[in-house]
Amino acid sequence: MKKNNITVLGAGLIGSLMAIYLKRQGLDVSIYDKRPDKRKTPYFEGGRSINMALSHRGWKALEQVGLKEKVLPLAIPMYGRRVHDEHGGTTFIPYGKANQAIYSISRGKFNQLLAEEAERLGANLHFEYKCVDVDFRSNEITFETPKGEEKLTPNVIIGADGAYSSLRMAMQKQIRFNYKQEYISHGYKELTIPATPEGEFAMDPNALHIWPRGKFMLIALPNPDKSFTCTLFLPFEGTKVCFDKITDEDDLETVFRAYFDDAFQLMPDLKTEFFKNPTAALVNVECYPWVQGNSLLIGDASHAMVPFYGQGMNCGFEDCYILNGLIEKLGTNAWDLVFEKFQKKRKIDTDAICQLAMENFVEMRDSVADPKFLLRKKIEAKLHDLYPNDWIPLYSMVTFSDMSYAEAYAQGKLQEAIMDKVMADPLITENWNKLDYEDIINQMEIAKAV
Ligand SMILES: Cc1cc2nc3c(=O)[nH]c(=O)nc-3n(C[C@H](O)[C@H](O)[C@H](O)COP(=O)(O)OP(=O)(O)OC[C@H]3O[C@@H](n4cnc5c(N)ncnc54)[C@H](O)[C@@H]3O)c2cc1C
Repeated sequence: MKKNNITVLGAGLIGSLMAIYLKRQGLDVSIYDKRPDKRKTPYFEGGRSINMALSHRGWKALEQVGLKEKVLPLAIPMYGRRVHDEHGGTTFIPYGKANQAIYSISRGKFNQLLAEEAERLGANLHFEYKCVDVDFRSNEITFETPKGEEKLTPNVIIGADGAYSSLRMAMQKQIRFNYKQEYISHGYKELTIPATPEGEFAMDPNALHIWPRGKFMLIALPNPDKSFTCTLFLPFEGTKVCFDKITDEDDLETVFRAYFDDAFQLMPDLKTEFFKNPTAALVNVECYPWVQGNSLLIGDASHAMVPFYGQGMNCGFEDCYILNGLIEKLGTNAWDLVFEKFQKKRKIDTDAICQLAMENFVEMRDSVADPKFLLRKKIEAKLHDLYPNDWIPLYSMVTFSDMSYAEAYAQGKLQEAIMDKVMADPLITENWNKLDYEDIINQMEIAKAV
């Protein structure tokens, strides 16, 4: 057996990027994925998000392996949220400062680029290899393949096999493994706003569009072919508007005309797509430890979050960046030490972002439609302008910085308490521009010191 022979489970976004990092360390890397080779068959999304928002943490991890320039042409900047009200009016809420954006990117092409880069660097890619078991005493992995069962015994196993990870399932059978999963009440379905007959975007392409409707919402992200992929988030059942109650085309049209009429006018294929496309569930997964013997979980396999902060992939890319940093520091002869340090450092951060992602669902589907929320954002933006180092809005800490998620979470809670007091002033709408901004910063300093 070769020394430092590494098996990565999953050729998804995180497994592919991890393989790139490992190859750049000069290691012997093989990737195994249960799906067919996406270069030989059309990319099958299976109801999973078609496009995603890539932000600072993701870019940083890509830049370190020299991929930023290759990825940029696939990505469309979105500088803020464009909020659509029920009468067709819209409001733009910037995400951060004028040049700060998150980037819409299509999963299929992006995943392909990363897998091909891993292969170009010398990683061996194996498709239609489904991991079904791992024996941690011998490090033996059992795969199901079209040619029958196959067994392998690598030195190191990195499980990047997603929210329903097979490596994690094997860990679950070990003593003292903690695991929790929660499905939220809402599911999602992907739909399309195609390009106009003139071949143009039907809406502003440089924004993430949201139709917040209290208990449910629709969002849309732009694609390079000038279409938008929309995601409809609805409760599965039990409310006036839910997936269970949309049983035919009339129900569908009634809901869309009532709540999303401007989008409805742009969706000629809605009725076909709605009943053809799968309705997918949303799960939060947390577990610990992430290490068993010489095996480690990363990405969604160790922390699958709901998508409302747009951080699942970005966080997984940051996993790769941090793990690589530890390998550089501690070398490749002490995997147990590297893995132990990784999980100790990272767990507190991934718990924080899982929690923030849950909390942001309410903000996206409800608060963004509230004028008081918009005012709150304006005040925070002004604080950030006046005191750029002392007040960074939570969204910016998470999305436009690499501050640890746990620290961002803690600072965000302090800011929230101070802003609650500011917003409690009954005359805040009239007086917001005359606030004592320095005093707010002083309050923050005191809160941090306590
Ligand atoms: C609706 C939605 C919207 C999202 N939007 C965003 C966003 O805007 N920004 C963001 O950062 N994140 C977003 N995410 C999260 C993001 O999709 C995930 O965090 C990311 O895909 C995780 O990558 P991964 O490689 O860990 O897992 P996956 O992408 O799930 O890849 C896992 C791979 O492992 C393979 N595999 C699985 N089981 C086995 C097995 N037994 N044997 C071998 N191979 C196996 C699979 O075939 C797959 O290729 C969103 C998620 C959803 C659901």
